Amino acid sequence: MIPSDFRGKVLVNEPLSNWTTIGTGGKADFLVFPEDADELLKLVCTLENSGVRWFVMGLGSNVLFPDSGFRGVVIKTDNLNNMIIEKNLVKVEAGVRLEALLRKAAENGLGGLEGLTGIPGSVGGAVRMNAGAYGYEIGPHIKGVLCVVEGELKNIEYRYGYRFSSVMDMVVVEAVVEFEERERNKILEEMEDFRKRRKKTQPLDRKTFGSVFKNPEGKKAWELLLEAGLPGTRIGGAMFSRKHANFIENTGNARTEDVISLINLAKEKVYEKTGIKLEEEVVVVKEED
Ligand SMILES: Cc1cc2nc3c(=O)[nH]c(=O)nc-3n(C[C@H](O)[C@H](O)[C@H](O)COP(=O)(O)OP(=O)(O)OC[C@H]3O[C@@H](n4cnc5c(N)ncnc54)[C@H](O)[C@@H]3O)c2cc1C
Repeated sequence: MIPSDFRGKVLVNEPLSNWTTIGTGGKADFLVFPEDADELLKLVCTLENSGVRWFVMGLGSNVLFPDSGFRGVVIKTDNLNNMIIEKNLVKVEAGVRLEALLRKAAENGLGGLEGLTGIPGSVGGAVRMNAGAYGYEIGPHIKGVLCVVEGELKNIEYRYGYRFSSVMDMVVVEAVVEFEERERNKILEEMEDFRKRRKKTQPLDRKTFGSVFKNPEGKKAWELLLEAGLPGTRIGGAMFSRKHANFIENTGNARTEDVISLINLAKEKVYEKTGIKLEEEVVVVKEED
C-alpha cells in the first residue's frame, strides 16, 4: 500500500482527533508524513494506481473526519516546509504554516497579507480554498502553484473566488506568493493588531475549525445564525459558540456526528427563518467515496 522505500513517518491506526483543531475524527488506517515533494508525488501515484483511498491534509483546521475514521491513507504535509525568498516573492512549500510564512516575510520587510494573521492553517490548505479574513485574501497574491496532477508535478494556472480556487481537487505542493516591500516593524505591528481583533471576537481558547458556513451573497453567516438563535445551542459535546455565532466549539467530548447534527439543525433553522440555504465552509470527509 505504502511504497517500500517510503522514508517518512507512518502512524498506524492513528486517531485523527489528535490532528484536527476541533478534536474529532476516528482512526485512520495510516497517517503518513512524506519527507519531501518527490516522496509525496510517488506516494500519491502508488495509492492512485493501487486503488487505495487517500486524503491530503495540512494542519487539520478546516476538516471534519467521520467518527468511524478513514479506511485508507491520510497524508500530512508537515515536512514540506521549505521557503525561499527572492525579492518580493516567496516560494513556499504546502506544509508551511501560514503564520510562519507571514512572519518570515515580515522579518524580511515583506507585507500585504497582514489580515491573514492568526489563520491556523497550512499554505496548502489556504491556497486550496483561497483563505481570507478582514478584507484580505491569499488568492490575488498567488503567482504560481505547483500541484500533483495525473502522476506529475505541474504548474497550474491559479484562479480563485470566495473560498474557491482552480486547485480545489488537486494536491498543492508549492506556491509562489507575492508580497509588497514595507517597513518591517509596521508589518509586525499590524499583524499584532489583527491577532488582537481575532482574540476579541473568536473563541480561540476552544477547539473549533473556524467558520462553519460560508457567507451567502450579500449576507453574513454569523448574523443569520445569531438571528436564528443558534449561539449556545448544543448537541452532544458540540455547541454553537456564544462568542462567535459562526463557530462550533467542542465542549470536551464532541463527536463529528454531534457537529454534523448541529450543522444540519442550523441549516434548517436559518432556512425556515430566511429562506437562505447555508453552505458549509468546513470540509466534511465522507465515510466512503
Ligand atoms: C480558530 C480558527 C480561525 C480560522 N479563521 C479563518 C479565517 O479567518 N479565514 C479562513 O479562510 N479560514 C479560517 N480558518 C479555517 C482554516 O484555518 C483555513 O481554511 C486553512 O486554510 C485550512 O488549512 P489546513 O492546512 O488546516 O487545512 P486542513 O484542515 O488540513 O484541510 C482542509 C482542506 O484543505 C485540503 N488541503 C490541505 N492541504 C492541502 C494541500 N497541500 N493540497 C490540496 N489540498 C489540501 C484538505 O484536503 C481539505 O480538503 C480558521 C480556523 C480556525 C480553527
